[in-house]
This record gives sequence, C-alpha cells and structure tokens, in this order.
Amino acid sequence: MPTYKVGPGMVTATTPPKVVRPLICEQCFEALGNVSAVAQYTSVSANVATATWPEMAEQLRRHEGICTAPRVSGEDLRAAADGVRDVVEGRTGVGAWRSDGRQADDDKLGT
Ligand SMILES: [Zn+2]
Repeated sequence: MPTYKVGPGMVTATTPPKVVRPLICEQCFEALGNVSAVAQYTSVSANVATATWPEMAEQLRRHEGICTAPRVSGEDLRAAADGVRDVVEGRTGVGAWRSDGRQADDDKLGT
C-alpha cells in the first residue's frame, strides 16, 4: 500500500485565507488533489489520510486500487521526478486553483 505526503502549501485568496497543499502519493508521485492543512506531512497511510481529509476518501480509495508504480529503477525515479516537477510547476492536477491563490513560499521571499 502506498503512503502519501502533503506538499508545499499555498495561501488562498479566500476570507479567511486557507493553506491548501497537494496530497501526493509517495509511491507513484501522483497528486490526488488539494487538502487544507497547516503543516506538511510525509508517510501518511491511506487510512490516516482518509480520516484527516474525508473529502479525499474517494480519490484515495480509487488510487489504492490503481497505484502500481515500483520504487526501484532509475527510469521510474526519473519519471517520478518529472511528475513532481509537473505538480510543482502547476502543469498537472494542483495547478487549477493557482489563479485564485498565492504561493506561500513566494510571499516569504517577498517576490
Ligand atoms: Zn500512487
């Protein structure tokens, strides 16, 4: 069973502002969606993730059934790294809400 991590957050432009973070499978690096979380987490089991973010229950359940990516070969690791880069740069999944959100880390740097 894969575990999940909650990645770097962005602050929404809503009132009150929320910190939303991508929920990412640690086995295949697919981003399942965004969750509201104050802190980053790693090695979160599917059960804990479902209990913590009930809105992700369906995505988690479905992902548990299809996630087969092995952690082994260099080719897989490269593909996984590409996937993470896609998520970070907003090309897949988590990019949609950027239009009404801000990158928290950017704010700290004053850029
Ligand atoms: Zn996965």
